[in-house]
Parts: sequence; C-alpha cells; structure tokens
Amino acid sequence: MKYISTRGQISPIGFIDSVLMGLADDGGLLVPDHIPQLSDATLKQWQHLSYPDLALEIFSLFVDNEIPRADLKKLVDDSYATFRHEDVTPVRKLDDGLYVLELFHGPTFAFKDVALQFLGNLYSYISGKTDSIIHILGATSGDTGASAIEGVRGKEGIRICILHPHQKVSKVQELQMTTVDDSNVLNLAVNGTFDDCQRIIKELFADVSFKHQYHLRAINSINIARILAQTVYYFYAYFQLANKGQADKVNFSVPTGNFGDIFAGFLAQKMGLPINKLILATNENNILARFVNEGVYQPGAFRGTHSPSMDIQVASNFERYLFYLYGEDPATVTSLMAQFKAEGRIVIPEDVLKRVQTDFAAYSVDNEDCLNTISKYHEKHDYLLDPHTACGVAASDRLTANGEVTVALSTAHPAKFDEAIRLRNISQTYPEQIQSLFDKPQFQMVVDGSNEEIKKKLVTFF
Ligand SMILES: *Cc1c(COP(=O)(O)O)cnc(C)c1O
Repeated sequence: MKYISTRGQISPIGFIDSVLMGLADDGGLLVPDHIPQLSDATLKQWQHLSYPDLALEIFSLFVDNEIPRADLKKLVDDSYATFRHEDVTPVRKLDDGLYVLELFHGPTFAFKDVALQFLGNLYSYISGKTDSIIHILGATSGDTGASAIEGVRGKEGIRICILHPHQKVSKVQELQMTTVDDSNVLNLAVNGTFDDCQRIIKELFADVSFKHQYHLRAINSINIARILAQTVYYFYAYFQLANKGQADKVNFSVPTGNFGDIFAGFLAQKMGLPINKLILATNENNILARFVNEGVYQPGAFRGTHSPSMDIQVASNFERYLFYLYGEDPATVTSLMAQFKAEGRIVIPEDVLKRVQTDFAAYSVDNEDCLNTISKYHEKHDYLLDPHTACGVAASDRLTANGEVTVALSTAHPAKFDEAIRLRNISQTYPEQIQSLFDKPQFQMVVDGSNEEIKKKLVTFF
C-alpha cells in the first residue's frame, strides 16, 4: 500500500513516511493509492473480534508489513488498554432505531483518544526504531490537544507543542491540557480563534525548510493514521448491532467539524461496510451542511456555540472528500483548492451536488435545538448527552426515516462541557479523573497569533 497526495505532486510513499509527513509536501492531503475492498466473508470473519483485534486487522491492511505484526499488535493493545470500558467503544440503545456509540471512554473523555492513543504510541515506536527526534506541533479547538498531550506526555524522543485559542475552549479542556507538567509538553494559548491556530499551523508546516529543520510532525486529523484509527469503530459498532440481529444496514450520524471523523466513516463504507446513510451534523458553524444541501463551500461568520470542538469554518479534511468526489483526479482538486484560496468559495454544479447528496445527508443544529435535545433525552431516557453528541442526535432525529436504524457517534463525555449542560439546570457529578484537575496548577503561555512569535517560542522549546 502506497500513499499519494490529493494534489498529485509527490511520489508515492509508504505508511510510516506518510504518518511522518502529515500534510503532503505539495500542500495536499495524503490518501491511500487504493482502498482495500472487503468481501462479505472477511466481514463475517471479523464480526466477533474484540476491539483491539479488529483494529489490528484493519491497520494491517494499511500498514502493509512496514511494521511487523507482533509489534503492531503490541501498539494496538497498549493503545486500547488505557480505555475504561471493556468494549473500548460500546454501543447503547437510546430509543427505537437510535443507538449511541460511546467513544469517550479514553483518558481524556473524548473520541480523539481513540486515534491519538495509537498515534502517540506509533510516534514513540517510530522514534525508537529510527533513532530520530519527533517534534509534534498541533492546533486544537480543545479535545485534540488534550488527547495528543495525553498520548505522548513523558515519552522519550518526543516533544509536543499545542496551540489553543485562549479562553475559547471549555474549562475542563483547558485544565486537561495545561495541568500537565511533563517537560516535553508546551501549551501556547493564542489570542484568536481556532481557525487562527489552524492557519498558523498550516503555514508553519507549509514552510518546508522550517518543518524539516525542526522535524515537525502533525497530530491534527489531517494525519492519515488518525483517519485509519477512526474507521475501526464504524466496523465495531456495525458488528455489535449485526451480531444481535438488530440491523443489516445502519446510518451513522456524525457531529462534524474538520470532517475527519465522518471521512473515516466514508472510507469504511468504501471498504465495503454496509452503511446506509452518513448523516453529517454541524452546529451553527455550518459550512459543511450548506455544502451538502446547497453545493456551495464558503465559510460564514464565526459563531460561538455550545459545541466548541465543532466551531470550525474551514474543514481541514474536506479536500480528501473532494478527491473522491472528483474520481481521484488531483488536477481537479488542485484547481478547486486554488479557486477556494483566490475567491473564498467553491461552487459545484448540479450533477456533482447530486452525487454529494447520495454520499451524505446533512443538518445544521442551532444552539437552541442542541440544548433542547440534551433536555429531551435527559428527561425521556435519563441519558446525558454532551452538546456535540446532541448535535448528532438532533440531526438523526431529523433525518432518520421510519424503519431505519441510526448510530449516533457520542464524541465526548458530558462532564467536559458542563457549561452547556448547566444552562438547562442539569447537574452532573464529574468523574473523579476530571474533578481532580481543578486542584492542580496550570502551565501555559499566552501569545499573539503571529507566525513569527510562535516560531520563536518553538525554537526555544525544541
Ligand atoms: C473533534 C471533535 C468533533 C469533530 O470531529 P472532526 O473529526 O473534526 O469532524 C466532534 N466532537 C468532539 C467532542 C470533538 O472533540
């Protein structure tokens, strides 16, 4: 298996090189040169595997012997041993035709642990095998940073610097990042929005000489390893329902920001998983829902919402979807992205929009609807949804047809977003791991959002 760029200007590379490269050197995103096709027989064989064993099978397809199987197995087993639930990502029935896939049983109580526990271990493995230094640089709207730091803190050969928008992440997210005092961790709190942080990172990575000089590595969801890790739970959730005879085709409803998680679902579907509908749920920052419903990809004004991890205007993984939408043609992707840069929008013709609408259904959930959904499921089912999950559930309520089964991805534990929960006068008890953060000292540096200042801080830290 080789990896190529959506813009077609790099020679094909292997799995480890593509993990290390992050953003492709030509400014595009890395994708596998072909998508493995799973037969019904293979799906049947996998249907009763444990989560780590299933992950091992799926990774094996994409790693293609670059890591010996025994080593890969240890990486996978170590990554999922840190989860608090024996099923790693259990599925729970909420209502007739509605299930939640709980992805928040990892160390930081958000779904990003599923990929970042693995990526942290993988980086550490690569660093050891190749005797090389790994400097991780990332931007976060809150959850990625906490997960990434948790994935690599204290590990030899790795340093990590995370940018987050100052005071625009939830209190628990801020504490999870900034109470870590390992010397290989640097938190920069940027005066600006998440989009500012993401732009800075993109530009620093695009500075190829800087990137190479300082061995910069990415952990953002543009990293192909994260996408691959996230395909696993689509399979696992499907098998959990299929094994009980509860569905032979399911919808997935995915609270979406950077398009990483739902792209993993798209990939799982392309590999042969019988997914009926992929429901793309956004909050009021609804560029992706507008794209699916109207065919125009154009950022709107930034809106602060109850689901800050989805407060994203420019979805960094969107280019991967464009690549498949246009028949894996890098020339078209390159010209669309150039058009986006020049004109600030992409408009697709009617026939292409029809194809988009066979791939996805989309719904944008406003703030009121998000809170109403939290209240409704709390009262009716005694189940507390976090505000991101609530967006997915609200979209599912809208777009699931009679007789269909939808699995809504639960991307965070409600304790991470108590600010929203409190607005509905619901009180919750924090898990002990979260409660204890409030008593710890914080380590962070507040900086302005200029590339030069951030470069300076990085050079000192590395
Ligand atoms: C990151 C995140 C999302 C959005 O995932 P994408 O892969 O960026 O689309 C949704 N919910 C939570 C809680 C998150 O942390």
